[in-house]
Parts: sequence; structure tokens; C-alpha cells
Amino acid sequence: MNISQLTPEAALASLGSGPDGLSASEARRRLGEFGANQVAPVATEPLWRMLGREFSHFFALVLWVAAGLAFFAAYAEPGQGMLELGLAIVGVIIVNGGFSFWQAYRAEQALAALQKLLPQQVDVRRDGATLAVPAAALVPGDLVQLVEGSKVPADCRVIESWALRVNLATLTGESYARSISAEAKHSDDPMSAHNLLFAGTLIISGECSALVYATGMRTEFGHIAHLTQTAGDTESPLQKEIARVSHLVALLALGLGVVFFVIGQWVGLPFWANFIFSIGIIVANVPEGLLPTVTLALALAAQRMAKRNALVRHLPAVETLGSATVILTDKTGTLTQNRMTVRELFVAGRHHLAAERWPRADDLRLRAVARFCHSLKFHDGEPAGDPMEIALWQFAGGLPEFGRRAGEIPFDTARRRMSVIWREPDGSGDLYCKGAPEVIFPRCTDWLDGDATRPFDAAALKVFQAAHEDLADRGFRVLALAWKTLAGPGESAEDGLRLCGLVGLEDPPRPDVHEAVRRCHEAGIRVFMVTGDHPHTAVALAREVELVRSVAPRVLSGDELGKMSPASLQLALDAPEMVFARVSAEQKMLITQALQLKGEIVAVTGDGVNDAPALKTADIGIAMGLSGTDVAREAADIVLLDDHFATIVNAIEEGRAVFENIRKFLTYILTSNIPELVPYLISVLFRIPLPLTIIQILAVDLGTDMLPALALGAERPHAEVMSRPPRPRQERLLSWPLLARAYLFLGPLEAAIAMSCFFFVLNGLGWTYGTSLAATDPHYLQATSACLLGIVLAQVANVFVCRHPLLPTWYFPLLQNRLLLAGVLAEILLLLAILYTPWGNALFGTAPLGQDVWLLGAGLAALFALLEEGRKWLLRRAAVP
Ligand code: ADP
Ligand code: MG
Repeated sequence: MNISQLTPEAALASLGSGPDGLSASEARRRLGEFGANQVAPVATEPLWRMLGREFSHFFALVLWVAAGLAFFAAYAEPGQGMLELGLAIVGVIIVNGGFSFWQAYRAEQALAALQKLLPQQVDVRRDGATLAVPAAALVPGDLVQLVEGSKVPADCRVIESWALRVNLATLTGESYARSISAEAKHSDDPMSAHNLLFAGTLIISGECSALVYATGMRTEFGHIAHLTQTAGDTESPLQKEIARVSHLVALLALGLGVVFFVIGQWVGLPFWANFIFSIGIIVANVPEGLLPTVTLALALAAQRMAKRNALVRHLPAVETLGSATVILTDKTGTLTQNRMTVRELFVAGRHHLAAERWPRADDLRLRAVARFCHSLKFHDGEPAGDPMEIALWQFAGGLPEFGRRAGEIPFDTARRRMSVIWREPDGSGDLYCKGAPEVIFPRCTDWLDGDATRPFDAAALKVFQAAHEDLADRGFRVLALAWKTLAGPGESAEDGLRLCGLVGLEDPPRPDVHEAVRRCHEAGIRVFMVTGDHPHTAVALAREVELVRSVAPRVLSGDELGKMSPASLQLALDAPEMVFARVSAEQKMLITQALQLKGEIVAVTGDGVNDAPALKTADIGIAMGLSGTDVAREAADIVLLDDHFATIVNAIEEGRAVFENIRKFLTYILTSNIPELVPYLISVLFRIPLPLTIIQILAVDLGTDMLPALALGAERPHAEVMSRPPRPRQERLLSWPLLARAYLFLGPLEAAIAMSCFFFVLNGLGWTYGTSLAATDPHYLQATSACLLGIVLAQVANVFVCRHPLLPTWYFPLLQNRLLLAGVLAEILLLLAILYTPWGNALFGTAPLGQDVWLLGAGLAALFALLEEGRKWLLRRAAVP
């Protein structure tokens, strides 16, 4: 017998439950027996595969080839040190792979930790009361209450439902909505029984109470998660760009290797020596640590964003956010506090302050509507739900109840009204309706003037409209409250109403919205308010937070929008300041698409079920963590834990910073390729001893450069990133100015430093041009050590000038990035170990150096930094007209 074939009562009984739900102790016992309601994370990539990949990507393959060539050389021409070189390169692959693996692993852990920050809460009946518990604590037999926008937390049998429709896309892939009701069905296939809800699917409309019959891995979703492996995330544009950059650089390395080999043969270098050079050049130019560093930089940014209350659901969104050019933001709750208070009334033809509480009879009906027309839930007598309805409910105070609540015609952004029906036992009753004045007025035939009922004629309409505008102009959200008596059981239409009056609700802006809006303006990001509220209310708030500053801002209403052609909408969107009012969620998507057609990168906020399409369409969908529905959160790239507009701006700042940071360490890493390359060139062209050995190149690329590069990836955003316009969409990570700075300015300077140190030592030891030196000659060892020292000290200076491409390094407090200081310290310690320990000397072919070389190196490095700062200064001056 399948649970779908039982009647609701039998289904409850079959799991030892009832209308009051389980008792707390029984729920606890069952939790122990059945385990937490969690789907074990779908087996991610096995560790060995992750590890294997770190040794088989493109760079690793290039290095494997280099190692293979070295081993071949060792076999064909023993005694040239080729065996050691081959082993060293293999060592490099292992160290580098291990390092990358560690970074990838850390990035993954960081993301996994983020996912845990937002547990799903579910309303469940226990001991006859309704309470909210984490979805993980559900057990079979629990009676849960689900409403529009919730994600189904476990497999459930519907017990009672109202207009319930579900989207099964996560389970079956079918994306149309299915109607679900409580009746018993005679179907053997649970999937086609229309009275079951499956974990992971989404409730699009209606509400229900449902009995949990399977949790965790026993749910349909759990089975599927068990059977399938996730298809692996698709690559983001940024990852593709990085891959492109690194392949380009690696190909460049290979190409240079070949070119140098040909040159070497041409100038008559011995074949094997030439061969070693070529391998050295390839190894020197491969940016080994690049890819994992990028991933880690993104993951760290995501972590920082989470600290600032923006939860990233897809890693690439971090970076996309940085390029956002337009934000479409909700009003209520995002710009405002969503802490509503009833401030003013318009009843019996007059304005009143709501606080004026002396006994008055003329607003009794109005208060009845305020008290009974809502979709609030009550936990221990405390209302929970829409803050506006809570405000109305509180304003109305206690009133005697007649009959019982018999139904609701729910609110949605297109109808802009909702009604609640109360019925007496004999079938007669009341319909209470509230909503936007312009949709309520046409449904009214009378209005209440104290105890009198007057016809709602043209004159009355005019009076009410004037009152409405007056309230809206002062920034109040205005609702019209209306009522009618129902004669018979069948009647429930929202027409022939009696208008009880208007209420003006105040919803103050969040305190720091003003500042966040100013930052957007400064950062060249346009912010458009998109609200379902009245144009006047919207503009009043927009002015208050300085979203609009012009005298006559463009205000586009949903009606106008509906009549516009796509082209005219696109043209209208050129306006610098705009407010969209009385707009439905569907139209939000139209606006998003029109902006995208204009080449904008659009961030859109949303909270309701209807917002999901717009959130999906947007470049960055932003859902609300506090007030939003599960549906919106599933569709979004980013979830705001505090629903706050300012959080979006903070997240954009982090997103911009991450792009800058990647560029910073790219510049840093690419710079040292030149001083690694030039010694080979000079040695081949001028027939001097090789100033830098391959092993020493590796010591820089994979040793001393690593931590400082990572530290640059973790730089905190500087205020300056929000003081310029968004980066154009086409702008590449590896731009020509960046390449020119690294390869044509910083790199050559570093090479000069390295060569100066080399010759300083060599000449000091009495070397003359034309003499050759044995590879083990102590003089030679010292000279190459000096070259290495020159590079490392220059890189120490470089990490500081790389903190910004244009601004002087002293703008950035040293202690702001402790990782940077730690990285530099590690870099110097590593250099000391390489130069002054016996094993360092043995491994890297180095010898201890005297103070004079250090002084020279440090002096030149300081000069290097000065020259770069001078270049920046010139550039800044040239930029200011
Ligand atoms: P916002 O963009 O401010 O969130 P909504 O789309 O939620 O606006 O609401 C649009 C309009 O619908 C409101 O201005 C109000 O007139 C009406 N409205 C909002 N919520 C309710 C409700 N719970 N009951 C009746 N009317 C409502
Ligand atoms: Mg709303």
C-alpha cells in the first residue's frame, strides 16, 4: 500500500501522527532513529582525481616533457648534470601540484563552509503548536506547513491544501507547474500521484499542510543524488580567460625555447649545453602557480563577502559582480527598513493621525479590515509575516471576531490587492479587502462616512484620489481598505465594495542607504528603483536617499511600460536617473533584458516566486536571505543575509577588488620571467658563464615568488576601486598595459639588477671577459647566487609597487595586508636558507655571499621601486589634464 492511496486521516495514522503533529520527545526519538534530514553531499570529485589533475594539466605536461628531455639527455650524454635537472623538474611538478592541490582544496572547503550559513527553516506542528525548525531536524510523521515560495524540505503526503501548485524541475526536469491536492489517488507510481510533494521541489503558489514520510537519503531526491554525479561546474568566463592567458604564456615559453635553441645552434653552442638552455627558458616562463592562485583569490573574496553578509552561491559571480553597471533594486526591505508603522488615516472624509487614540467610532470598519485582512501566521499569539500587515494588525488592536476565517484571495504583485473572507455558520459573512488605492477604487460602489454610507461617485473619487496623492507625496505607502457583507455561501467576488478609508504607512529608509547610493554614483553604477508601490511614494523615497537628484526624474509606471515597444524602452533606459513604479515582477525581467541588450551588466534583486525569472536572467541575481522565498534564493547567484542594499555595494567592491588583485599578482609573477630569461640570452649571445641556473629559476618561480603572489591575491579592497567607472565587459585580464608594464619596464629593470649583482661578484673575484668557469668553481657559484639574490630582492620591492598599477605604494598601509608582510618575510627567509645553509647550497648550487652584495642588491631594489613610482607619477600627471 502506497501512502498516496491512503486517505489523509489514514496517512497520518500510518505514521503515528495526527493533526497536532508529533510530540517534541517523539520527534527527538525519531531524529535519533532516522537521522538528520540531509542529503549527503553528492560525491564530489574523488580526491585522487583532484590530485591527479594537478599533475596532468597543460603546464604540468610542458614540465613533464622538459623532464623527459633532461632524462633523455642524461642517458645520451651522461655527466652533464642532466639527471639532476630531470629529477629537479619532477620535484617541481610534485611540489607545485601539491601546492595547487592544497589551494584548490582550501577553496573548496571555504565554499562548502559558506553553503552552511543559510539553513532552511520550516514551520512544523509539534505538540499542537506551530514552530519553526531547521529543515535538517524533520522526521517522518512531522506535519509541516508550506506556503508559496518554499522549497519542499522532505518527501511529504499532502493532508490539506489550498490552490497548491508545484514545480518539479529539480526532480524530473519538467518545468511546468503541477497541481497537487489532498485526495487519495489510485496510482502505483508515486511520481504521478498528485498528492505527494518531493524534497527539493518548489511550491509556486498556494499553501498546504503536509505529512513528512521520508527524509534525507530516503527521499526521491536522495536516491537521485546517490545515483548521479554532478556534471562538474561549467567554466566561468574568468576561468576561461585565465586558461587562455596561461596557455598563451606557456606557448610563448615553448616558442621562446625553440627560438633560443635555433639561435644557440646558429652561434655554434655545443648541442647539449644548448639543449639545457632551451629547457631552462621553457621552465622560466611557465607561470606555474597561476590557476590555483586565481581560484583561491576568488574563494577568499567570497569568504570576505560572506563576512559582509553577501553569500555567494556561484564562485564566478564574485567577479561578475565587480563589473556590474546597473543595479535594479527593490524598495521595500532593501532600501527601507521594512519596519512599517501606520501614521495617518483618511476616514470619514478627513485626515487623522493614527496616534490620536481617543475613542472614536468612525474608524471601526477600517480597523476591522486592518485586523482581519492579512495572511499572517501566529506563533503563540505573536504575528509573523509581512511587516506591513503586522503594522495594520497592531494598529487595529483587539476586536471581537465573528464567524471564522473561511478563505483568502491572495496578494500578488500583478493584482496588488488581497481579500480575506470570514463566514458565519449560516454561510453569510464578510469580505475584507485591502490593496493599492487605484485597484480598489474601481471596485467600490459606496464609501463609509462614520455610520453613514454614501455613494462612491465621481466627486467622492476625486476627494479620495487627492488624499491618496497627498499621502504618497509625503512618502507614505498608501493602502485602501474596503469591506462588504456576503449574503450567501457562494459569493466571494471583490466588487461592490464599501471603501472604509485610506491608511498611510511609514517605512523609513535604512540609515546607511544614502551612503551606499552615493558610493554607487561615485563608482559609475546606475541604480534604478523597481517597485510595486505608487510612483509618488517611490519618488519621495528616491529623493530622500538621493537616488534621484534631478527636478523631474523619469518615472515609468507598469502601465506605460506595457505599452512601450522594446526599442522605445531601450531608448528610455538611457536616462541617468529613473524610477519604475507600479511594476510587476514579470516587467522586471523585461527591464533587465532591455538593459542587457544595451550592453549593461545588470544586478537585480528579488524576493518572491515571480522574481525568479528576472533573477535568472540577470547577470547577477540577488535574493533576500531574511524575507525572501526559497524559490528566489534558488534562482539567485548571491543571497543577502541582511536584505540590505548597502551589502550589494560592499559585494561589488569586493568583486572589483578581486579582479584588480588577480592583475596585481599577474604583474608580479610575469615580471620575474624577464630576469630569468635575460641571463640566458646574454650568456648565449656574449659567451659568458650562465648567470642563473635552471634550478635557481625554479627556486624563484616556485619558492620565493609563491607566497607574496598569494598575498597580493588577498589584498583588501581599497576605497579607490569604487571611485571609477565599471570595467568594460570586453576588458581582458591580461591587457597590453599590464604586459608592457611587466615585460617591458619592471622585468628589464629587474634583469639589470640581477646582471649587475652577477658581474659585481664576478669582477670582484678577478674574472676577465673570455675566461670560462667550471660549474663547480666557487667563484661561479657565488656569482650565480648574487644573480639570484638580485632577482629576489627586486621582487621584494616589486610586491610593494604591484599593490597598485597607478597609485603610490605608500597609500596602502603596510599592516592592512599582514599576509603580504608574512609573504615577504618568508621570501627572505627562504633566500637566506638557499644561500647560507649547506643543503641550500647543495640543492641550488649556491654559495654564501658577503654584505657588499646584499647592500648592492638592496640599494638597486630600492632604486627599482623609486623608478616605478616615478613612472606611476608621470602616468598620473599625464592622466590629469
Ligand atoms: P514593493 O516594491 O514595495 O515591494 P509590492 O510589489 O510588494 O511593492 O506591492 C505593490 C503594492 O501592492 C503596494 O504598493 C501595495 O499597494 C500593495 N500591497 C502590497 N502588499 C500588500 C498586501 N499584503 N495586501 C494588500 N496589498 C498589498
Ligand atoms: Mg514587496
